[in-house]
Parts: sequence; structure tokens; C-alpha cells
Amino acid sequence: MQKQTITDLDLAGKRVLIRVDFNVPIKDGLISDDTRLRASLGTIQYALAQGATVVLASHLGRPNGTRSDTLSLKPVADRLEKLLNHPVFFSPETTGTAAIEAVLEAGSGGIVLLENLRFHSGEEKNDSEFARELSLLADIFINDAFGVAHRAHASTEGIVKHLKQSAAGLLMTAELNYLGDALWNPKRPFAAVLGGAKISGKLEVIQNLLTQVDAVFIGGAMAYTFLKGRNIPIGHSLVEDELVDIAVGLMKDAETKNVRFELPIDHVVSERFDTAVAMDTLAVGDVNIGQRLGVDIGPRTVSHYAQSLRDAGTIIWNGPMGVFETPAFSTGTRALARAVADVSGVTIVGGGDSISAVRQAGVLDQITHVSTGGGAVLEFLAGKTLPGLAALPDRITSDF
Ligand code: AMP
Repeated sequence: MQKQTITDLDLAGKRVLIRVDFNVPIKDGLISDDTRLRASLGTIQYALAQGATVVLASHLGRPNGTRSDTLSLKPVADRLEKLLNHPVFFSPETTGTAAIEAVLEAGSGGIVLLENLRFHSGEEKNDSEFARELSLLADIFINDAFGVAHRAHASTEGIVKHLKQSAAGLLMTAELNYLGDALWNPKRPFAAVLGGAKISGKLEVIQNLLTQVDAVFIGGAMAYTFLKGRNIPIGHSLVEDELVDIAVGLMKDAETKNVRFELPIDHVVSERFDTAVAMDTLAVGDVNIGQRLGVDIGPRTVSHYAQSLRDAGTIIWNGPMGVFETPAFSTGTRALARAVADVSGVTIVGGGDSISAVRQAGVLDQITHVSTGGGAVLEFLAGKTLPGLAALPDRITSDF
């Protein structure tokens, strides 16, 4: 069932509280990456054009229910003002009389950004009283924060119970359309590229994807748990010993389901994760790895994966192919980013590391959809219900 969206509602003259995800990296008051702000502009501009008073609410970092100067959203208000070329009033209070007055003062066509939701312990506890206080600032609730849709918090789940009208914002709707289409109605062949440190964090994702995809390409440290399951020597590479049997089970499951399951055929090895010491490129299984560890996929793996992905109808990529924070070990991940960008099918990239790899490779705008949600993407791909989404009303359709 489709969720009601912002375009289904009449916003004129209404106070519209939009839950956004403005959890951007800030150091000494400076925002180093404003991608998440830019991603919300469409919804904000739409609400303004409809004649609403826009009230923006977000969290920033983990202040755990206490006020912290370094986690104030004030710098975000300043940047947003520039991006929108429109005044943004900053309310130093998240709720209460001062916040209500700020919203009144902004009036129709005005924008107010509330202070960090997580300065209040009621936010993450999904406290009903805090949700009610937030609801006093608005007539309509719009959830545009896909990145926290997997959390049942006062500003994502609780508030819906206190307002008559709620809906998904444009960003949330786009996220759900791309991810939903990929999962339930993919253009085939449908391939998943999965990397990162551990299988454990992505076990349910792999299990669920195996029921949908035609092929899986594995990279990063998680490959070593699978390789160990195939009795291939992996030196001192990062491995989850307790998950080797499960990894073997997943590979069997892939075989039963006729899903192609690819592991790296060569890799870059080093004595250390953080710098290149005794670095070499070896075939996977070459015992010359000795005490070294695998830190990146090798060039043969890159070209094999790139070749195999070329005709994909849909690709979902999550997780780096190596320790890409160390420049010497970032080659494989960046090359894969370029290969994914070259594919003419639908390409979806999610997760902070894969997104920065795509950005570093300079191909961000060649990706069909770059998802703003990290954990939420994984929960969605694992087939779980996202509470922030489940809380929103279904769309009423007239065709019956
Ligand atoms: P995740 O959060 O599970 O997506 O994992 C991301 C992390 O995996 C990054 O910090 C990478 O440095 C790390 N990683 C990727 N490949 C390897 C590897 N071969 N050995 C150790 N860590 C890795």
C-alpha cells in the first residue's frame, strides 16, 4: 500500500512540521558536507510554494537528552538560509512557548528551524508528552527523514498520533520509490554489490536479497568469512569465525535459488590496515599472503565485477570493497564506483562509505539514486518494517 505524500494534502495557510535529517558533519561550527541539507530543499520549497509556514525539526549527533553547544543546529540554519536564498529563523528552543512564538512570527511563507530534537530525552524514548509538545507547533506532519525512518522516535512515530494529517515528504517518497521498485519490481538482471567489515551487520540483508536478486558480488572484509567457509587460506584477514557456518549456509542458499554468488579472485594484502607495509597484490588463495591481511579487492576482481555488472538492469551497492579510508587501499572501491556509474541500468548506492567512494571517484551524478539513509536502507533491504514509515497513513485511492 502506498503512503500518503505531501502532494496529497492542502498546505495553504497551514503550519507544516517537516521532520528532516539534518544530521550533517559539523566541526567548529563548520559544515563539511551539506548533501543532506540539499536533499531536503525540494520538500521545503514545495511547502513554501503552497503557502505553508515551514517548521523544520531534526536531530544532530548523539547528545543523549542534554543540551550541548557543539551539537546545536544553529550553523545548519545559517547554511540553509544560503542554500534556499530565503530567511530561516532559528528557534533555540525545540518546543514550548518560545518555539510556538517563533512559528507564529515566521507566519505564512516563513521557515523556522527548531533546535536539536535529541537535546530532549523524550525524543529517542518516543515519549508521548514530548511528541504532543512537538505537535503543538503544527497542523500537518511531514516525514522526510528516511535516514531515521527505522527508529520509533517522538518526531518520527509518536507525533503522528497527535496530528490529524501526516504524510511522507518528497525525499522520503523518492527513497521508497527507488528502493521499493528495486526490491519488488526490479529491472533484471538484478545485482547486489555488498562490502564492508562484517557479515554480522548485514546478515538479514543478504538473506532477504537472496530471495530477490540474480547475482551477488562480495568485497571488503566480509569476503573473508565466505572464503574461509570455502577453506581458502586468508592469512590474518579480518574474519568472523563464529559466522563461517552461516556464510556456508548463505552460499548454499544462493546455489539452491540459482543466484550467482561471486567472491574476489585477487586482493591487495598488507601487514597493516592503516598504511601500506609489505603491500602486494595476490590471487585469492595464494599462501604467500603469510601473516598479512587482505585490505582491498585486486584489479582482476575489479574488471571481472565490472564486466559482469555491465548489463545489469538494477544494481544495489552497499559497503566498501576494502579499507578505503587508507588511500593506498581505496583503489578497488573507487574503481568499482566508476564501474557502477557506467552501467546504464538503475543504480542505487546506499551507506556512508559507498557514497563517499562514489563522490571521490567524481561519479555521484551518474548514479540513479544515492540514498541518504544508512541504517534505514539496510533495514529496508532486510525486508523489515520501518516504524517511521508504518506510522504514516496509507494513501486513499479513488479507483475501486
Ligand atoms: P560497514 O560499516 O560494515 O559497511 O564497514 C565499513 C568498514 O569496513 C570501513 O571502515 C572499511 O575500512 C572496513 N573494511 C572494508 N574492507 C576491509 C578489509 N578488507 N579489512 C578490514 N576492514 C575492512
